[in-house]
This record gives sequence, C-alpha cells and structure tokens, in this order.
Amino acid sequence: MMTAVPQSTISLGWTASAKKKLAGRLKVIKPFDPYHSPLCTCPPKLTLNVYTGCGFECFYCYTSSYAWGRWGRTCDRWGPRKDVLRGLEKDIAALADAGPPLTRMPVVLSLSSDPYPDSPLVNEGELRLTRGCLERLTTAGWQVHIQTKSDMILRDLDALDPERALIGLTITTADRRLAARMEPFAPPPERRIDALAEAGRRGFDTICRIDPLVPGVNDAAAPLAELVQRLRDAGVRKVITSTFKKRWDSARRFEAAFPQEAASSAELYEPGLVQGYMYMKEDVRRGIMQRLREIVHDHGMAFSCCREGFAELNDGCCDGTTQNEMKD
Ligand code: SF4
Repeated sequence: MMTAVPQSTISLGWTASAKKKLAGRLKVIKPFDPYHSPLCTCPPKLTLNVYTGCGFECFYCYTSSYAWGRWGRTCDRWGPRKDVLRGLEKDIAALADAGPPLTRMPVVLSLSSDPYPDSPLVNEGELRLTRGCLERLTTAGWQVHIQTKSDMILRDLDALDPERALIGLTITTADRRLAARMEPFAPPPERRIDALAEAGRRGFDTICRIDPLVPGVNDAAAPLAELVQRLRDAGVRKVITSTFKKRWDSARRFEAAFPQEAASSAELYEPGLVQGYMYMKEDVRRGIMQRLREIVHDHGMAFSCCREGFAELNDGCCDGTTQNEMKD
C-alpha cells in the first residue's frame, strides 16, 4: 500500500474544483495538477507548455501516452501552442487582477513538453517562443522555474532575473552512450551539466532532476555517485528523482530499447495500475530512493523524491519551488 500524503495546498484553497475553475479562465497558463494524485506533494504552482508534444523521444516519456500522434522527432503534428504569446499576455493580465496568492506562485516551463525543442520541424532556436514567454513573465515580475533537457536555456539567461528564476536540468546519466539510448534526440549530458554550471556562475539557483531511475539501466550506485559529484562541482543545490513508472506505451519502448533490463525488472512491478501508471513495489522504490538520497547527502546537497509517497525522505519541498526556497 502506498502512503497518501497530506496536501498542504488544501489550506490555501488549492482544491481540485478551485483549480478547474481557474483553468477555465486562463488560456495557456494552467494550475499544475497531475490528475489530483494524492502522491503529489508539490506546492501550489502554475504551468505553461509553450509546445505540445516533444521530439526528444525519451523512451520513458509519460506524456507520449496522451500526446499520441504529437510526439516524436519527425512527427509533423506537434509544435507551438496556438497564439501562445498572445494567450500568455491575456493570462498575465487576468492573474494580476486576481492578485495573491496566485501571483506569488511560480510558473513552470514545461512539464509535459520540453521548452527548448530542437528538431527539423520544431526549433525554439528559430521560433523563440519560449524566450518570448520568459521575457513577458519576467517583465511582469513572475517567478519562473524552467525544467529542460537542453542547454539552449543558456541563450535566455539574459531574459531572466536570477532572484526570481530557478533553473532545472534533467539528467538521467552522465554516460553519453547510455543517454543516447535513453533520450536519443536530447542534448548529451555533458552539455546539460555545463549549462547548470554556467547558470550557477551567473547567479541562478540550480537543481537537477535525475529522473526517472530505471531498474537495471541507470540506478546503479557508482555511476550515480559520479553524476552527483559532477553536479556538485557544477554548483547544483538540489537533486530530485523518481522511479520509472511505466505506462502502456513507455513499457513497450523500454522492452525495445533495453530488452534484458525490461525482462529482469518485470517482477519488481506491482500488478495493476496507480492512476494509469505501473509502479514498482514499495520496498523496491524505497530502496532506490534511499540509495540515491545517501549519495546526494554525502555530497552535501539536498534531496527530494517525486510522486513516490515518501515525503519523509524529502529535504524541504519536493520540487524546489516553494516560497521558502525561492524568493518571496
Ligand atoms: S523531454 Fe520530456 S516530454 Fe520530451 S520526450 Fe523526454 S520525457 Fe517526454
């Protein structure tokens, strides 16, 4: 049985119906709500997907199951959200009218697509839509949290206020060849580590998601320790992680990309689904989380896990965006 985690957000009136009502008033910004999961301990936040779909083709991607037909490097059905810049301007005005606490919440780019696509068909380097969104949000005084797998974020640091921005890179392994099998079209890990180091040198708070940890693929202690050491050297403050939760399509891609590991880890998974996801057994997940937590703590960094139900393992807020950890 997984532990249900109390929702501190309820005290702020951040309920499912309040979020639904707000979502109906906004065009492109949405309240973050991963299907009302009791396992999500995120503080209240807003989210903006500049693009729909993604071309990095990470085998473990969870969004592909609902962005079906809008996912894949050469798929021609994904791209920028319609009128995203105009929609954002309207949302910024609407939220300014609403005032706090909404206006104190961070806006996260992006949680179901990458804000820096770099495919033959969709390229933020040319479109500059993420940059346009960041400029508008920063000018309006919003806190932003950027979560990406791309070092293209460095292009936009000049559009951000280091006092009001959190820079997060996702890096699942420091091993370039393994990363190419896991995330074939994402920039290689060393470029992402360098991006974190550069953002830190320029005064930004930085975090890294080592996420997901896939059994038998990237969860061994020694390579994780090497990655964490490199993150510490790059000045990263916090590591956030979660275990690989399979969905129907990512399970198939796992079998295709890592047949041996997929077969040998099959028995680690619970029968049945938790909100559409296949979870590993609780003791297995806890063991994986604790192993990385120890490594992260040995390197003097903070640790959190995401949607595992182990809030007691977290140092502060699970996603690094709380008012405590970001500026008021
Ligand atoms: S970067 Fe994120 S959204 Fe894109 S394919 Fe990878 S996991 Fe999916």
